[in-house]
Amino acid sequence: MDNEISLLKNNDNRTDSDLEKVQEFYKFLQGEVPNGIVVNERTTLNLSQETAFTIIWYLQEHLSIFPDQIEKCSICDELYNSYSEGYHSEKRDLFMCSSCDDGIDDDDVEDTDEADSFLP
Ligand SMILES: [Zn+2]
Repeated sequence: MDNEISLLKNNDNRTDSDLEKVQEFYKFLQGEVPNGIVVNERTTLNLSQETAFTIIWYLQEHLSIFPDQIEKCSICDELYNSYSEGYHSEKRDLFMCSSCDDGIDDDDVEDTDEADSFLP
């Protein structure tokens, strides 16, 4: 997949993928400051994984700054590129990275309340 995120500046040393850029931002929102930038300790963020991904989701869906194929695994909370890995179960409302994909296809899930038994 070609990278879609176009940086306005500091392009020279950025050879990382879109997934890596979004992962770095996801961790930044949770308080992990990347090398090369300085943030005042008092203003370092400490958001939960859910809140951090809500911000990423907004940047994907409403501002179209981040590509929307970057998903958060519902099981391990890691980000992954859904174009190259993972599975989304609409019936179970689950996003699964390749490590957490249980191999259960939506076609094998009954379309009843029993589907809830698959939720972690
Ligand atoms: Zn996972």
